[in-house]
Amino acid sequence: MTTSTINLGLVCRDPATENFFSSTAKREFPICLCSDCGAVGGPQQTLCLSCGSTGLKWEAASGRAVVRSYIVLHQRAALQETPELVVVAIGELAEGPWWWAQVADVDPYTMAEGKRLVIDFVASGEEMVPIFRPDA
Ligand SMILES: [Zn+2]
Repeated sequence: MTTSTINLGLVCRDPATENFFSSTAKREFPICLCSDCGAVGGPQQTLCLSCGSTGLKWEAASGRAVVRSYIVLHQRAALQETPELVVVAIGELAEGPWWWAQVADVDPYTMAEGKRLVIDFVASGEEMVPIFRPDA
């Protein structure tokens, strides 16, 4: 079986990603809930996309997702005969928001829309970066 490779660059937090990486350091994937209308949003939101409220509270997502789309990158380093296959998927979280991330431990040739995924975390520098894995 061919297995996907995770290939992350160095990730560093900045003021815009401080809250995100504080959550992922606890192995939690943050989603926001609107205090005014109850809409659920992704971690990058600064206001509610349904009502415009800035009254957001943050919770940990369940980590479950379903593939909505994906690509397979064929990366070949210099002098490397066999390319590494990096799978990047857009997953729809069980709570509703969509998120894209690399997928570990998956046969790229068995990826398909609708495949069930779970969020996991891998270290990049001092930060924990969310990735997907197939849901067993
Ligand atoms: Zn709202």
